[in-house]
Amino acid sequence: DIKKVNESYFGSYSSFGIHREMISDKLRTDAYRQAILENPSCLKGAVVMDVGCGTGILSLFAAQAGASRVIAVEASEKMAAVATQIAKDNGLWRSRPQSEGNEQSTGVMEVVQCMVEEVGKSLQIQPHSVDVLVSEWMGYCLLYESMLSSVLFARDRWLKPGGAILPDTATMFVAGFGRGGTSLPFWDNVYGLNMSCIGKELVQDAARFPIVDIVADNDVVTNAVLLQTFDLATMKPDEVDFTASAELEPKLGGLESNSKSNSTTWCYGVVLWFETGFTSRFCKEKPVVLSTSPYIPKTHWSQTIFTFREPIAMASRNFSTNKTAAIGTDTCPAGRIHLRVSIARASEHRSIDISLETTGI
Ligand code: SAH
Repeated sequence: DIKKVNESYFGSYSSFGIHREMISDKLRTDAYRQAILENPSCLKGAVVMDVGCGTGILSLFAAQAGASRVIAVEASEKMAAVATQIAKDNGLWRSRPQSEGNEQSTGVMEVVQCMVEEVGKSLQIQPHSVDVLVSEWMGYCLLYESMLSSVLFARDRWLKPGGAILPDTATMFVAGFGRGGTSLPFWDNVYGLNMSCIGKELVQDAARFPIVDIVADNDVVTNAVLLQTFDLATMKPDEVDFTASAELEPKLGGLESNSKSNSTTWCYGVVLWFETGFTSRFCKEKPVVLSTSPYIPKTHWSQTIFTFREPIAMASRNFSTNKTAAIGTDTCPAGRIHLRVSIARASEHRSIDISLETTGI
């Protein structure tokens, strides 16, 4: 049931290893740090809420940026306690007016230990009184963990009309990958020995589950297509589940195009990735993009790989008038792959259901 799912979910965030992994992801942490510290018109004097503060790192940045009050919300008991300690150790803790201890209360940051859906019960705060909502909610394939729903809940309850949300956009991209993106090349030649039967078995398995891993930019054999954009400031909570289509075309000059025939690109599956934008809508001085694309250095999200049951032969563009010509396979090569992707939150789970359909056209 949902209680058990949440227990194990927040339990997983109680180990320091995962926080170290996120903090060490420099691309990730620097993107947030820049967006928070280099946009004073957004942060200075603002009331900030951090949805899922973990170690408190984003809240601490917000305090450094001159926020007037930072409400760090964290469901994991362990991490909420740790974030409190860290705020105190850095002189950024704000003690509640009623609890007059010998603690310093010069800081602006307070930690609330609960799910953000329950904040109203444990905190004195008016609805729609937050200026800036910040959160690092993105999971593998963007939506795994389904934490975006919690951010939208916080937005609808606590954010002022017109308030800022950081990041404010999230975009998913898709592209086709070639043989090099599979385990086949590795097992073809192991110290001169042919172990290709292992590669074949692994590709069969991969067709059943998505894999989180890195795809090298030159293993991408099609154009990259925008699949879905979320505008976090305006989207409705039920728009987290979506269906979208993309048309993939062979990339000109891709390494794979010569592997079987001059005119054929073999597409073994698709790779999904995302970007989040801290756009000039709220980050006027310094807009920032956090990208997990195969074309830039890797992040801890890697990419998400979906392998087809059978590779699809694609005719490269310069031969597209000759689409029907036989090229030594049973099927005629497709000029493009029409891809339909649906992603939906699995009911009562933190996982997501992904369906993927292809048609060669
Ligand atoms: N902001 C931190 C941690 C990000 S990981 C950083 O950038 O490093 C996401 C955190 O959100 C986890 O610690 C998780 O326990 C917490 N979280 C997820 N959903 C939540 C919810 N609904 N309410 C409160 N905390 C939540």
